[in-house]
Amino acid sequence: MIPQNITIMSQVVQVQWRDDLMAKENCHGQCLFDRNIIVLQTPNYINELTQNQTELTFRHEVVHFCLHYLGYDALNDDESFVDSFANVLYQAEKTAYYLD
Ligand SMILES: [Zn+2]
Repeated sequence: MIPQNITIMSQVVQVQWRDDLMAKENCHGQCLFDRNIIVLQTPNYINELTQNQTELTFRHEVVHFCLHYLGYDALNDDESFVDSFANVLYQAEKTAYYLD
């Protein structure tokens, strides 16, 4: 599931969806740091994005926002680091076990 917004270091970050993000920007997600917005490609029959890919993309953008607000600009520019961190985070979340 992907929320409508998320709060990172007291900043409310909105999630917006676009049908043409992949076609126009060649990516599945984007951070608009100056407007506190995460933009995600809407899954559709053309891009064939799975729910998992979209959820992973969302985490990728959340990691960008965390690093942005923590001031780790060099790490924030390191797409390989951000992607690896998002993958590990997503796996940890998906395998979390809760008592009822
Ligand atoms: Zn990125």
